[in-house]
Amino acid sequence: MSSGNVGDGERSSARAYGCAKCWPESADSAWEARSYLDQQRELIDGSHFHFLVLSCPECGQAFLSVFMESIDWDDGDDPQFWSVVPIDGAERDGLYRATISERDLQGVARGRRSLFRAAPKGEPHSNGWATGIVLVPHD
Ligand SMILES: [Zn+2]
Repeated sequence: MSSGNVGDGERSSARAYGCAKCWPESADSAWEARSYLDQQRELIDGSHFHFLVLSCPECGQAFLSVFMESIDWDDGDDPQFWSVVPIDGAERDGLYRATISERDLQGVARGRRSLFRAAPKGEPHSNGWATGIVLVPHD
């Protein structure tokens, strides 16, 4: 990303969530940081799709982490994807209260910066910034 002007909205939303430890500027660092987060709750546990609420042990920021595995009919090495986004207390409570569908997930953290990790078959894994929860076709 260039060092050009960043809109105030973008800047404030980037700062509104997490701390330098759990939500750093680099997507690779953010993925690394995810492994240090505490698991609060597992919301759906499917073999190919599940999501977790995590929280930062440093600052208490909650995160929604969605895991997806897409079907690969050729062999068993299925491509895997993660979408991670910080959520506020009200959003977390909403996730706890309701039975959440994938469609509901798309309404969470709309427009907010999120972390997307792709681990496609036979290719290097990549971490990047996205917006909102990114859902990929999966089993
Ligand atoms: Zn934090």
